[in-house]
Amino acid sequence: MKNFVYNALPCRVVFGAGMLAQLGEEVERLGLSNVLVLSTPGQCAMAERVSAQLGGLSAGVYDQAKMHVPRETAEAAVAHAGNENADGCIAVGGGSTIGLAKAIALETGVPIVAVPTTYAGSEMTPIWGLTTDGVKKTGRDMKVMPRTVIYDPELSLSLPSELSVVSGMNAVAHCVEALYAQEANPVISMMAEEGIRAMAQGLPRIVKNPEDSEARSDVLYGAWLAGTVLGSVGMALHHKLCHTLGGSFNLPHAQVHTVILPYATAYNSDAAPEAMEAIKRALDAKDAAGGLFDLNKSLGAPVSLEAIGMQESDLEQAAEIASSNPYFNPRKVTREGIVDLLRCAYEGRRPES
Ligand code: NAD
Repeated sequence: MKNFVYNALPCRVVFGAGMLAQLGEEVERLGLSNVLVLSTPGQCAMAERVSAQLGGLSAGVYDQAKMHVPRETAEAAVAHAGNENADGCIAVGGGSTIGLAKAIALETGVPIVAVPTTYAGSEMTPIWGLTTDGVKKTGRDMKVMPRTVIYDPELSLSLPSELSVVSGMNAVAHCVEALYAQEANPVISMMAEEGIRAMAQGLPRIVKNPEDSEARSDVLYGAWLAGTVLGSVGMALHHKLCHTLGGSFNLPHAQVHTVILPYATAYNSDAAPEAMEAIKRALDAKDAAGGLFDLNKSLGAPVSLEAIGMQESDLEQAAEIASSNPYFNPRKVTREGIVDLLRCAYEGRRPES
């Protein structure tokens, strides 16, 4: 057993079908009495239902959440929360909505209750992000760590199958990188392996029947584990590459994670043998990178950068950006290595560890 340091993050988790009914009690438990309900425009109806359920505890709905939290969106939301004298935020949605709640909390210190409806994992992390002039800056601050998270699988029934798959693979990516993280520890590794297993077993059932509530529950359990490991240990090459491709080339967040994961795993395979063994066990596959690629294919997910809108002529520049600043990765990150990785990913060739 290697030496390790484990920092457990404080967060109350309420999990189960129908648990949204407990939201009012959870709000009162935190001593809050006037909470602003946040959503994207697309999930406004869901947010209105939540606000109605809260009755006098609600300060109304603010439905302007946008992907990657543009600074202007954050500033308008902070001003709105101030005008309404909100003493807390309820984020009903995916990473974009939870990201907006975090921007408000970062500025004002009000507590967050998160009600995630995707599998992205932001609800379990103290990581915030803010985009100014197209450049996304991220940081860690315990002020933005949600105090309570309600995981109700009934809310994800409406997440279309294709989005469920890529969001689920985004969660798998957190688990894969947690297994070879610099701060990896036995508890987090156990959660990461179990997270991959829950996703690999649950996602095919969602593709078969998006209304399978047992499968929704199993996958949301995987998402909880994935969010927990993301909040607890640092990420590496895969997340750096996805950040670059999403931020500088405007590719869709969860789809990029889905496509890149098998290739980043292959890149790191020789340098992280224990992690590869855990991935193989979780997938019940002979090869970690190949197994992730096969899982993507079987789920009907995109498997090439070309399929999600990347231009071949941008590959060199992407490799340049992703290898320009040093960061931890189990295998040394070289420009040539990343060009090869991106070329394989562009073409959608099956990688092998
Ligand atoms: P998202 O929140 O942008 O949601 C995608 C779309 O799906 C939105 O239009 C949303 O309204 C819709 N949607 C969500 N749930 C739905 C449901 N149940 N039914 C129908 N439609 C639904 O996407 P995401 O992938 O959850 O989040 C991505 C963002 O989160 C990115 O900006 C990413 O950087 C950030 N993120 C942050 C962290 C962190 O720790 N800070 C972690 C993961 C992701």
